[in-house]
Amino acid sequence: MAQAPGPDSLETRVERLHDSIVSIDTHNDFAMSLAFPERSTTVAKGQVSFELMRKGRLDAAFFAAFQSQGPCTEAGHARAQYLADSMLRALHRYTEENEHLGGVAYDTREIRALKKQGRAAMLLSIENAYCLGEEISLVEHYYRMGVRMIGLTHNGNNCLADAAMDSVERHGGLSPFGYEVIDEMNRLGMIVDVSHASRKACLQAVEASRTPVMASHSGVYNLKEIPRNLTDAEIIAIASRGGLIQVSIGRYFLSFLPKEEVGLRQLLDHINYVVKLAGIEHVGIGSDFDGGGGIVGVEHMGRMKAITRALLEEGYSDDEIAKLWGGNVLRLMDQVHAYARSF
Ligand SMILES: [Zn+2]
Repeated sequence: MAQAPGPDSLETRVERLHDSIVSIDTHNDFAMSLAFPERSTTVAKGQVSFELMRKGRLDAAFFAAFQSQGPCTEAGHARAQYLADSMLRALHRYTEENEHLGGVAYDTREIRALKKQGRAAMLLSIENAYCLGEEISLVEHYYRMGVRMIGLTHNGNNCLADAAMDSVERHGGLSPFGYEVIDEMNRLGMIVDVSHASRKACLQAVEASRTPVMASHSGVYNLKEIPRNLTDAEIIAIASRGGLIQVSIGRYFLSFLPKEEVGLRQLLDHINYVVKLAGIEHVGIGSDFDGGGGIVGVEHMGRMKAITRALLEEGYSDDEIAKLWGGNVLRLMDQVHAYARSF
């Protein structure tokens, strides 16, 4: 028979820590399979649910309405808007149908209130501002649908910005419309997400935004040299303005090793690197679950406590883990919210 963990065991410390902190994951791609289950996909699904959040003691997560990049035409933009709107409606529906397990949160007060009730907090975001087309009023449309963070691009250039994964440069970073959108997001109180943006677009967004930006799911370029990972210059720029680098839980970002060999060690290497370069106040977790995320030991949201355990074993203090797991995101959300209120 299995013995109950003792009062000073690692398991007990992990549980106690999760009682007192707010844990937040800043990126998943659950929405697409929820709204369009028939669409074929190449990545593993089923890594995200309110049940798994409860099991893994994950208090809150940003659920992204994702659109892949298509042509920047009127028809392309209309299609992207249809996809984004459908996914956001599906996410709202999911919380209504699972009210006992969780709800949508629009600010940090609501995240804390849901935690107190033992319910998961769903935060809404958009991955790829393609759905805005060239229509600035759509920023407020999405804010009203509950969106509190927008990623400028996905893998292709759009009307706002160049993408890290595109083979050509269209705007030299941000377009004039991209700057306009960032202003509007600042005014409304939305986080500017620079993951997927080109290096120039990222650095320009850091400068342009009146509030700190977030890279919601990225890795360290110096540890894995791919365009999607952040260079030291980007990490330092984001952090120096108070922003966050949210390390993704995916082999794609973390290592060139075979999938079955990529686990917590590689995740910790990236976290440690950002902590050393930028400080504990500027690091967090953005899983990319249901969008390619998952490593050995953290295969889905139900395994998030394994990260807490690994951080304790690595020597991080309770206070540092509290910041990394969600304290930093709460701070950023409050800053973005306070700036919007000043209008
Ligand atoms: Zn992504």
